Amino acid sequence: MLTQKAIERLSKLGSKDFFITSLYLNVDRNAKNNDYKIVLKDLLKEKRQRLESVKVERKLTREQTQSIENDFTKLEQFINSGYIHKDNHKGLVIFCSAGNNFWEMFELPQPVADYLNVDIDPYVRPLSELVCDHRSYAILLVDSAKAKMFGVHLGFVKEQFHIQNNVQPKIKYGGIDGMDERKVDRAHDEMVAKHFKHVASEAEKLLAAGDMVWLIMGGRQNMINQFESLLSGPTRKKIIGHIVVEPEAPLTDVLYKAEEVAKQAEKKYETELIEKLRAEAHGTGGKGIFGLQPTLQSLRRGGVNTLVIAKGYTAPGFVCHKCFFIGVPEEKGAKNTCPICSGDAHDVHDVIDEAITFAFMQGCRVENTAENSRLKIMGNIGAILRY
Ligand SMILES: [Zn+2]
Repeated sequence: MLTQKAIERLSKLGSKDFFITSLYLNVDRNAKNNDYKIVLKDLLKEKRQRLESVKVERKLTREQTQSIENDFTKLEQFINSGYIHKDNHKGLVIFCSAGNNFWEMFELPQPVADYLNVDIDPYVRPLSELVCDHRSYAILLVDSAKAKMFGVHLGFVKEQFHIQNNVQPKIKYGGIDGMDERKVDRAHDEMVAKHFKHVASEAEKLLAAGDMVWLIMGGRQNMINQFESLLSGPTRKKIIGHIVVEPEAPLTDVLYKAEEVAKQAEKKYETELIEKLRAEAHGTGGKGIFGLQPTLQSLRRGGVNTLVIAKGYTAPGFVCHKCFFIGVPEEKGAKNTCPICSGDAHDVHDVIDEAITFAFMQGCRVENTAENSRLKIMGNIGAILRY
């Protein structure tokens, strides 16, 4: 499953020994004239043509070059005959490295921009933006005798459980003095309470184990209120909203309403994050910084807790393949060298891609905010620091 943790794990696979090939392919059949087999063929052709110069520039050994060629062949064979396309898959992402004996694939419900990258580290930025655009959440629908929970991850919906407990219905009938009626009511209430406890315990188990960061409660308002009081404090904190629906409401209605709630929560989360960053940067705590150069400096020192970037922000820079220094052009040493180890400083058109992978490698959280976010006026990039 594609999560921040999965991207972190991938980023750590970068090695000096063999390059990693990253393939992003738009496999959306609804996209106009989209033939992904031809797209891949063109991408590979272009990379193969450039391989000779990369070999010289990066001083690749025969084994390293062979590993890249093997990746290309394997990708070609897989897309042409091994890959089974499903209708709900619009994006396909593969990371592989024959020399490292490594192959990992993600099938996504979102289309991705076609791209083929070969480097010492995997190209993870589009995945990082995707997980921020579509934070995972759970929907829990409760009724007096039934409950259903769904997990929504990157737009894929999966039923987590369906519980039906034997709850005696509340029957209105006239006892002579109302005694029987009260007894039946009490028995009903007790059974509902027991059912709710069962549901709460199952839901909390899943929420604790899974990657669902948010919870949306659904059902009749009185049921939701009654149920919520049974949840633990940490679970209640995950609740981002209610959707008031009848127990038999169609799933499409539920999902549509839940998506609206999640979108609002996403906006609120982002606003609060940028506000926190601003407050930390200007406050006495000083655990926040803005701007490219200070952020890269903190990253290199290992001081970043959360890296915050405006989606789509790019900036030129350079990397040193010897000591993994990443910096802005002004930081270069004399004659295009790395200021730390005097190795070659390789220009990159976008140092932000490198910064993101570097942050994941260090186990930082990476947050990509919407393009129109307030972060833009604060330099497009910043970080909340560890200390
Ligand atoms: Zn260096």
